[in-house]
Amino acid sequence: MEHMKKYGLVAVMGRPNTGKSTLLNAIMNQKVAITSPLPQTTRKNVRVRYKEERCIIDFIDTPGIMDKVEDLMGKKINKEAPRAMSGVDVIVCLVDISRPKNEEENKVIGIIRKSTAKKILVYNKTDQAIGSKDHLAEYNYLEEEFDKVIAVSALKNKHVKGLINLILEYLPEKETDEIDDDIQIPMGSNEYIGEIIREKVFLFMRREIPYSVTVEVEGVEEKKKILVIKANILTNADRYKKMIIGKGGQKIKEIGYNARKELELMSGRKIFLELTVKIDRHWEERL
Ligand code: GDP
Ligand code: MG
Repeated sequence: MEHMKKYGLVAVMGRPNTGKSTLLNAIMNQKVAITSPLPQTTRKNVRVRYKEERCIIDFIDTPGIMDKVEDLMGKKINKEAPRAMSGVDVIVCLVDISRPKNEEENKVIGIIRKSTAKKILVYNKTDQAIGSKDHLAEYNYLEEEFDKVIAVSALKNKHVKGLINLILEYLPEKETDEIDDDIQIPMGSNEYIGEIIREKVFLFMRREIPYSVTVEVEGVEEKKKILVIKANILTNADRYKKMIIGKGGQKIKEIGYNARKELELMSGRKIFLELTVKIDRHWEERL
């Protein structure tokens, strides 16, 4: 049956910082999702397609569920993960065994419990936490909620293939011409380009301006051999604008340089990136 393949939709869930985006990048063998040591780097559900001889799997990387949410941004983020759940065949739930369990896990489990999808519990960061250093015992009781359990290291790409094999056990066979080939290429979307730039703002500003920044891509234009990208970094206060620009424009140069390098790497194109920092007090409401 050469025209049949396993096909399905898989949601990757878990509280912020458990390694969901790292896992997805390991599966895809390239950077498709934004990872960062700062929590809450992924803001929206990102969908990517994994293809091999045996299967086609569409993965959804969710932003995770946060415990304390008072601000508008946080509330919007918390609505994203449950949205990813409809129509999924398998839910992969990550826990970070190097950290103690907290209330956020309960929230995630609460959401997962409502789904009829097959559920796989993944113990992540096994490279970092082994033996006496891990918090495995705090997570063990979760196992009864799940159909399968596996321990991996997303960062070191350990047992990630094993996880794929587990997922495949639960995916139905489908005629390949019935699988729509509407693959979402992250590089093609302005939103994704914006997220790459925003990630660099985060990395270079550290904790100074947590969630008060967004990036709007105004245009992507082909000019001979280069791709010209115009983007605005929007923030809600003048002092943040000054910080992002930095003394003599030093910060914005650093942000722009690093964002351009990554965009070039991902697109295989030469890129001219034009960044402007603007004050916009209402960007959160438009999301
Ligand atoms: P997300 O919020 O769940 O998407 O988490 P990320 O994928 O952004 O990862 C958060 C942090 O954990 C990053 O600094 C990753 O490098 C780190 N991380 C992810 N997976 C592993 C792992 O298997 N081992 C170790 N040591 N660190 C990891
Ligand atoms: Mg993430």
